[in-house]
Amino acid sequence: MTTPLADRFGRVATDLRVSLTDRCNLRCNYCMPAEGLDWLPTEQTLTDDEIVRLITIGVKRLGIREVRFTGGEPLLRRGLVDIVSRTHALGVETSLTTNALGLSRTAQALADAGLDRINASIDSVRPETFATITRRDRLKDVVAGLEAAKAAGLGPIKLNAVLLRGTNDDQAAELLRWSIEHGYELRFIEQMPLDAQHDWSRAAMVTADEIFDQLSAEFALTPHGEPRGSAPAELFDVDGGPATVGIIASVTRPFCGDCDRVRLTADGQVRNCLFAREESDLRAALRSGATDGEIAERWVIAMLGKRAGHGIDDVTFLQPDRPMSAIGG
Ligand code: SAM
Ligand code: SF4
Repeated sequence: MTTPLADRFGRVATDLRVSLTDRCNLRCNYCMPAEGLDWLPTEQTLTDDEIVRLITIGVKRLGIREVRFTGGEPLLRRGLVDIVSRTHALGVETSLTTNALGLSRTAQALADAGLDRINASIDSVRPETFATITRRDRLKDVVAGLEAAKAAGLGPIKLNAVLLRGTNDDQAAELLRWSIEHGYELRFIEQMPLDAQHDWSRAAMVTADEIFDQLSAEFALTPHGEPRGSAPAELFDVDGGPATVGIIASVTRPFCGDCDRVRLTADGQVRNCLFAREESDLRAALRSGATDGEIAERWVIAMLGKRAGHGIDDVTFLQPDRPMSAIGG
């Protein structure tokens, strides 16, 4: 029998985001500083077996139906293919959010291990702008990684892009045209206050409405027919379809009421929300010999503290201590 991961507002989490590492080989300037961060020490990071045990508890006891691996950069995790394979064996959907660096080497192995699809980040298709944002001149490698993922059948491949004022905010249409030409589904994400440097400002953020207006100058966007459900993106048909574009208005039109997500950090903390200020320590439970039932119980209790919304607009809003890269985006 499974116990649903329900909160006090009637939402049930079935989508588990698992961060496999807080490390990254890019330095996107809206995510982390040029020098990187103080990475988690190895002994605090869950082992592959510990991760798979927690995922198994989530699936077998708590109704998790979909597992997305993220980070930091999940491709940096040595045991990734094995973790994917063992998760796939549990009978759930598996996906990966990645910057696609190095994916040209691992895409086929990941597909063979049962990975269903990937989401990849690409904020510009101009090499100079890409290098300015990520502080690494690696656009070519990202593009090669995406091609390899497509060839391995890891589709539909969704691309995530963040627009930054004064850097790439004039490139929305160009990114969309490129994505359509290459057979990728592009989604723009509003920049959120989750950067390690705490540089985010509401005033500087490029809003979903601005993105829509910019795209509409070059494409006819019409609401896509299917209901959105718990998906964060508002989806539009481009020039009558079949191509689509998504806009994720996390800040200006929050979708917290439909949230079905729960997060596990690389050091074994359950977070009931990206913006949660509290975490529940499953690693301590695991390492002190707790049974699967006891861990499941702790996880269920962690969900009861989930707030109704992220509250970015509240005067009392406080950015969480962990940046996005250490939570798992
Ligand atoms: N490294 C992988 C990647 O970039 O796809 C996975 C982790 S990354 C934290 C996941 C997603 O979060 C990326 O699409 C990235 O663009 C996005 N992201 C990071 N910081 C963000 C922020 N402050 N606001 C909005 N999205 C952000
Ligand atoms: Fe790395 Fe992803 Fe953050 Fe960019 S957004 S620095 S690729 S974790």
